[in-house]
Amino acid sequence: MGMYEGSAAELPGNVLNALPNVDDLKLFFADYDLPPEMLKQIKNVCAEHFSELQLLGRSLDVHRLQPANWVIDVKHVFASSFFARVGGAKGKYQICMSLGVPLVALSVAEELCTLESNQQSSSLDSRYANRENSVNNWFVGLHSLSKVSPGSVQLALDVAVLLYCHEVAHAIFGHCDYIPSNDNERRALEHDADFNAGAMFALWVQVLPSSTRKSSSSKMIFKRLARSGYLLSVILKEVSSSSKKYHLPTSRLEAFLSGGVFAMAKSKRAPSFSSDLMADKYWHDFYHDQVKEIREAVSRSSLREHYEFEKDLSADRAAVFKCTAVVRDRLKDGPLTLHRLNISR
Ligand SMILES: [Zn+2]
Repeated sequence: MGMYEGSAAELPGNVLNALPNVDDLKLFFADYDLPPEMLKQIKNVCAEHFSELQLLGRSLDVHRLQPANWVIDVKHVFASSFFARVGGAKGKYQICMSLGVPLVALSVAEELCTLESNQQSSSLDSRYANRENSVNNWFVGLHSLSKVSPGSVQLALDVAVLLYCHEVAHAIFGHCDYIPSNDNERRALEHDADFNAGAMFALWVQVLPSSTRKSSSSKMIFKRLARSGYLLSVILKEVSSSSKKYHLPTSRLEAFLSGGVFAMAKSKRAPSFSSDLMADKYWHDFYHDQVKEIREAVSRSSLREHYEFEKDLSADRAAVFKCTAVVRDRLKDGPLTLHRLNISR
């Protein structure tokens, strides 16, 4: 069974066999009419993104997959839409990710980080007219990535790592080999992948290849998870139509964050608390502090319609606790034990 996220489930276009060069990018993304300086910068971002996924994949391979005779291949395709998916069965899986993942994330991060650093501006999105937005219209009005917001590249790379973790989670926790019998089970698998993606992200940002991309302090790790999870939720609000397979983007974001907190607590990198209630309050406040500015930037951006929480959020949250989490536990303790990678060594 295949799992997919984002805007398209259909078979994507040309597969990349190597790192894309400037001419490839110019050709495949001709509709975006990107200036030469921007193409060079985008090529470099793609190179960093590829090297991160390669390193994380190699590490997973050596420590976890090879001992079990498992394989997870990753391929990229030239597509501007934001999607990723994983397919395969019985220990042999393929993740397919569009170049749209790092590039849409970069376009949105660029817009939001620029707005964040320019809080006086009531609206910088005059760049985006006629219902254009930074998901569908990349880098409108820019000749190069902004110098005032170097954080946008980091943020975009983090979004791509988080989505990669989500696909890996589907494979190693046995989701691809299990056929869900209803929508509750489908949502439970997605919820499980989100939770585990948050947990993996918290561990993997400590070992990224470039020294400027590694984080070791628990505050910085959670900050990165909070911001990239939030950005991913904004993109998902734009590209995913309402679906019985997924919870709302904000509920999904909460699953990513819970996974990250869980991983940090388990590895004794999180502060300790005398009660769960105090821990919840601490992380809740910490999260809101980390995303306050970027959230405010969304309200002034071309994606401002996604600023508010979804109108059905409270019912959706309740469904996570009452139903999805229960189904997830039942699947994890039951059928998924037959399919998941044995990592309890
Ligand atoms: Zn998924």
